[in-house]
Amino acid sequence: MRDHKTDEMHTPDIEELMGKSFECPECGRIHSMDTRKLIIGEGLFVDISREIDELGLRGKGLIVCDRNTYKAAGCRLIENLADRDVSLFVFEREDLHADAHSVGRLMIAMADDPAYLIACGSGTITDTVRYVAFLTKKPFIVFATAASVDGFASGSTPLIVDGFKTTYPGKAPLAVLADTEVLAAAPRKMTAAGFGDVLAKIVAVIDWKLARDVGGELFCPLICRMVEKAVDDCISLSGELAKADPQACGKLMRVLSMTGIAMQMMGTTRPASGGEHHISHLLEMKDIRLARRGSLHGDKVGIGTLISLYMYREMFGAHSMPEQRGHLSEKAWTEEIRRVFGDMAERAISINESCPPEGEVWDEQKKIIEKSMSEYGYAYLDKYCGRIGEFASMIRAMGGPVLAGELGYDKQDLYDAIAFSKEVRPKFTILRIAERFGRLYELASAIAADPEIVLR
Ligand SMILES: [Zn+2]
Ligand SMILES: [Zn+2]
Repeated sequence: MRDHKTDEMHTPDIEELMGKSFECPECGRIHSMDTRKLIIGEGLFVDISREIDELGLRGKGLIVCDRNTYKAAGCRLIENLADRDVSLFVFEREDLHADAHSVGRLMIAMADDPAYLIACGSGTITDTVRYVAFLTKKPFIVFATAASVDGFASGSTPLIVDGFKTTYPGKAPLAVLADTEVLAAAPRKMTAAGFGDVLAKIVAVIDWKLARDVGGELFCPLICRMVEKAVDDCISLSGELAKADPQACGKLMRVLSMTGIAMQMMGTTRPASGGEHHISHLLEMKDIRLARRGSLHGDKVGIGTLISLYMYREMFGAHSMPEQRGHLSEKAWTEEIRRVFGDMAERAISINESCPPEGEVWDEQKKIIEKSMSEYGYAYLDKYCGRIGEFASMIRAMGGPVLAGELGYDKQDLYDAIAFSKEVRPKFTILRIAERFGRLYELASAIAADPEIVLR
C-alpha cells in the first residue's frame, strides 16, 4: 500500500488519486482506489493494445458489447487488437438490463476462461461485466461508449434480481478509457442522461451531510468536496454538451468518472446517490415488473433530482423548519407497500420500519436538522433550489426528459415513486425527512397531480 498524504483542505484532482491508497487527512480512514488509469481523449483506438500491455494484462481477452456498442466502438476495438488473443461477445437481447439474466449469459460466454474482460458500452454492460469479473476474479477494463452514467469506476454493482434493485459487491475496473469522438457520436439523450446523473449529486451531497448529522453515517469532507466541485464544473458545460462538443463530452465523462471514483474511495454509494436515485430505482423496478421497456438510468435520476430539489425547497426554502403533520398508520402503510411492490412487498416490509420515529427520538432529530440547516443547509439550498427550472432547460437542450410523463409514466407511477421509493433502501434522504415531517404523501400527491409545479 502506497502512502499518499494530501494537504488539508486540498481538493485533489482525479489523476492524483489513480491506483492509490492513502490515509485521509480529513476523515482519518484509508481511501483506496483500485482503478489505475483514466484515459479520455481522441484517437484512443490506435494505442489500445499498448494501454492493455501497460496494465499488465496478458493472455486471452474477451470484449463484451451489445449490438449498438459493437457498432460504436467494439468493431474498431477488435480490429485494433488484432495482434492479441482477443475474442468478442455481443449481447443480442434488445432490452438489456444488468440483471441475473445478463450475468448468467455472460458467464456462459466465458467457457474458454478468458484472462481479462473489456466492457465496451455504458452502464448496463459495465455493471454486468463488473459483477462477472468479481465472481470470476478476473481483471477488467472499461471502454466507455457514452457519457451516460457515473458507475464506470465504481466498486459495487447495482443489479436487478427477482425484480428488486439491490447493490451487490463488485470490483473496480483497472482502467476507464473513453474516446471523445465516440462519446460525442453517442445518441444525444445519453449525454443528457449523464448530465442528469451528475446533477443528482446536488441532492446526494445534502442528503449525505444530513444522514451524517442525524444518523451518524460515515462521511468524508474531502470526498464530498471532490463531488461538489465536479458538479459545479459540469453545470458550466451544459451549453457545449447540448451541441455534442467532443471536448465537453470528454469533460462530462471525467466528472462522471470522478463521482464513480468517489464511491470507490468511500466504499459506499453515498457520495453519488440520494433520494433522487431511489425515485429512479422504483420506476425501474416497476418497468421490470410490468415488462415495460425501460428508459436510461440518468433520465429517471435527472427527473428524481428536480423533484427532490423541489421537495427541499418546499420544506426548507423559507429558512425555517416545516410544520409537523401526521403520519400514515401502520395499516395504511402496509397496504400501500403491498399495492406498490406487489410480489416484492414482503421484502420491502422486512427491510423498513413501518412508522417513522416519534416522540423524544424525533424531537432530538429535528433539533439536529434545524442546527444543520442553519449551519450549511439553507445556504446550500439557496445556491441550487432557485435553479430547478434552469437545470430542466439544460437537460431539455440536450434532448433529455424532465417530466416523468415524457418517459411514459402516469400519475400513479409518479406518486408511487415519490411516496414509496424510500422503501427500496432503508437510507436517510429527503424522502425520509419529508415522511418524518408528515409531508411526503401530500408533496407526492401535489407533484403527481401537476408535475410541472416542480419546474416553476
Ligand atoms: Zn476521507
Ligand atoms: Zn446514478
